[in-house]
Amino acid sequence: MKTFSIGGVHPHDKKISAGCRIETLPTPKTVYISMSQHLGAPANCIVAAGDKVKAGQVIGEPAGFISAYVHSSVSGTVKSVGPRKDITGNPVTHVEIEVEGDEWAEGIDTSATLVTSIPEDTKFIVDRIKNNGVVGLGGATFPTNVKLCPPPGKKADILIINGAECEPYLTSDYRIMLEKSRQIIVGAALMKRVLDVQDVVVGIESNKPEAVTEMQKAIDELASVSADYKGIRIQVLKKKYPQGGEKQLIEAITRRQVKSMGLPIDVGAVVQNVATSLAVYDAVQKNRPLVDNTVTVTGDCFPKQSNLLVRVGTPISYIIDFLGGVPADAAKVISGGPMMGKAISNLDAATLKGTSSVLFLTEAQTKRKPESNCIRCAKCAEACPMGLEPFLLNKLARNGMMDELEKNAIQDCIECGCCLYTCPANIPLLDTIRVAKGEVIRIIRSRTAPKK
Ligand code: SF4
Ligand code: SF4
Repeated sequence: MKTFSIGGVHPHDKKISAGCRIETLPTPKTVYISMSQHLGAPANCIVAAGDKVKAGQVIGEPAGFISAYVHSSVSGTVKSVGPRKDITGNPVTHVEIEVEGDEWAEGIDTSATLVTSIPEDTKFIVDRIKNNGVVGLGGATFPTNVKLCPPPGKKADILIINGAECEPYLTSDYRIMLEKSRQIIVGAALMKRVLDVQDVVVGIESNKPEAVTEMQKAIDELASVSADYKGIRIQVLKKKYPQGGEKQLIEAITRRQVKSMGLPIDVGAVVQNVATSLAVYDAVQKNRPLVDNTVTVTGDCFPKQSNLLVRVGTPISYIIDFLGGVPADAAKVISGGPMMGKAISNLDAATLKGTSSVLFLTEAQTKRKPESNCIRCAKCAEACPMGLEPFLLNKLARNGMMDELEKNAIQDCIECGCCLYTCPANIPLLDTIRVAKGEVIRIIRSRTAPKK
């Protein structure tokens, strides 16, 4: 079984919500749709208080090359446009919409009919992906249309569909692989057409055998009716965290290594998550914008494990109340997994396109043990999937040595947390490295930024 060659750890996978079918969450009375749901410039809001909107209608336009359309996820009346706090408490422009009925904008196919024919016109496919606001749902929320159009001189020869879902607790990708496998494979075939590649590999970890079976069935079924599906195959991967990291997945499947500060396209690869592939299917085959997504709600202390289909802009507190409220022994709520997720400091914050999970952790699970001195065991360096020396980066960061940090490639850190997970001295390696990395990247960018 394939896996990446450098570092990695084996946390318990805790997929306790894996058996929960996707249920549709009732639409709340009010949604709050953020204009900053993607990597790059926030979208420009094009609606105002008092406007009537339909589900799937554009309410925000891209503000640059790296930006994305934002659509209303509901029908109703715009009550306000203005700053509202996101999950970390930062003010971000949101559109507040009071829900009235469930009317969809013209030209959107909301039926469940599977559309399998792949359009010849690649511009049509890319335009639909762009116009329907599809962004990468594996964590980065990079606009998908941009990623599918490599810069001049670069060409992909392999498309990798990321079904690893290696973070503990998360099961939304697993459930869509079970319940929407055909749509995901059609999405993969659409991106295969755009990239003009012959090789499409769906990477799935070995702890998800049912997903492997369902996805293989979908490939066999579709390949038997159209040559457009030939060349799509599954690669079962050894379970190891962070298998779903873009660079780790590429190395596991192709043995190609993306260089420091490099991009997957430099080694001829494009990686898209399974949820992105599903969004591409909806966008192209149904002209349906990215207005909902599957969210895992889980945690050892949470009594009602769930995978819910949630309209974008739903307050997190509404989801939690629907499932019975915050458990008494929950000490921390996380958006994402325990390794790479972000703490939610504001439960009234609304979900985004990229929200994949709400995870409850107890005091015992979050309490950090007292930090002691580094014993130079090098466990952090052995665990680092990017081949970095976290103990050294931590020391340099604490001394503010920016040049040395850059020379030691802190900018390559993928913030996976493997170093923190393994350190016997409980040194908060990820915390110091993350902050210093941000500063080093700012310095690197300022060197290449155009002079004003
Ligand atoms: S958080 Fe960064 S330094 Fe630590 S193991 Fe992951 S990639 Fe390496
Ligand atoms: S794992 Fe912790 S104690 Fe060991 S070398 Fe790294 S920082 Fe030091």
